[in-house]
Amino acid sequence: MKPQTKFLKVKCKKCNNEQIIFNKASTVVKCLVCGEVLAVPTGGKADIKTTILEVYS
Ligand SMILES: [Zn+2]
Repeated sequence: MKPQTKFLKVKCKKCNNEQIIFNKASTVVKCLVCGEVLAVPTGGKADIKTTILEVYS
């Protein structure tokens, strides 16, 4: 079975910046504006640490 890859629109809890991230990030994803950690990799699937606004499948 093919693993599901999705793009997520998230909002930084700290500065409210909206950013599109990948749900299978292999590195820590940080807010482009303030540097807050938005997602951390956990064995293939990203653990989203902030508010998810939309999921694009
Ligand atoms: Zn931010």
